[in-house]
Amino acid sequence: QKKYLKENIYFYRSELTEQMRRQLSIEKDMKSSISTNDFFLVYQPQINTETEKISGMEVLTRWKHPKLGFIPPPEFIAAAERTGQLQYLTEKIIEAGINQLISWRNKYSYQGTIAFNVPSSLLKISEFQNFLICSKEDNQIPDHVIEVEITEDMDLVESVEINSYLQQLRKKGFIIAIDDFGTGYSKINYLTKFPFDKIKIDKCFIDEIGSSLKGEAVLKAVISLGRSLGLTVVAEGVETQLQKLFLHEAACELIQGYFYDPPQTVENMTVKLAQGGEY
Ligand code: C2E
Ligand code: CA
Ligand code: CA
Ligand code: CA
Repeated sequence: QKKYLKENIYFYRSELTEQMRRQLSIEKDMKSSISTNDFFLVYQPQINTETEKISGMEVLTRWKHPKLGFIPPPEFIAAAERTGQLQYLTEKIIEAGINQLISWRNKYSYQGTIAFNVPSSLLKISEFQNFLICSKEDNQIPDHVIEVEITEDMDLVESVEINSYLQQLRKKGFIIAIDDFGTGYSKINYLTKFPFDKIKIDKCFIDEIGSSLKGEAVLKAVISLGRSLGLTVVAEGVETQLQKLFLHEAACELIQGYFYDPPQTVENMTVKLAQGGEY
């Protein structure tokens, strides 16, 4: 028994150090990777259920570490936060995404939206607020094109400053979307207290389609609640034909998910836009 115990402890220790070593290299290598091709953006289309055309896209970030391979975004976002690089990273992502948008608008008359994931902790930083507003104005991006996706966390829910900044962003022509709707600290009445334009219904609600009648009823109710508040409703993580048909039937305006496309490289997205963005 003693021997087992020892082995357990040994095993545990080596796991721990390996995890720590990984974390350290992630933290150490991030800064230099951000300005190389190791970091890149991918774009996932949001399709209008009525027209089956691209209505917008979400920017997601990929980091291919030279030794560790692909690092999952939540892992490198957390590392960026720990090391004080989250603002820098986010600004780089937005800058690159807007440059890409400009090129697509010019070459293929892309008229849709582009959504960025913005951690709510950054929304309180006035330097970041200015960055966001200048990115739109300096590049003469029209209103209702750039979208800010935020998740409802404690920061968001409790902060009066964030609320008033979101109001300001809307006045400046940004679209405000609430991400992972239904999973966070949301209470239904936040929908009236916060200035949102769009809700993204989390995948876990979509997964109920075809498997739970109650789940389906809740989903339908959330969609019609969103619509009756005048919000654009997006379903996330749509993977099957059945889900797509259900959502179309339930008058969910936009769909994002593997059913249409996983996040696309610039090259692939460019091909789709060149073909007119039809699905
Ligand atoms: P999210 O914002 O909720 O993004 C949706 C995630 O679901 C993405 O994972 C996307 O690839 C994945 N997804 C899309 N359609 C489907 C589907 O049909 N089925 C399934 N199973 N998954 C689908 P990804 O890219 O790994 O990102 C994970 C999370 O990391 C994101 O969740 C977001 O919170 C964060 N993230 C990703 N990129 C960024 C970024 O540039 N900035 C920030 N702050 N966070 C990011
Ligand atoms: Ca998102
Ligand atoms: Ca989401
Ligand atoms: Ca998520």
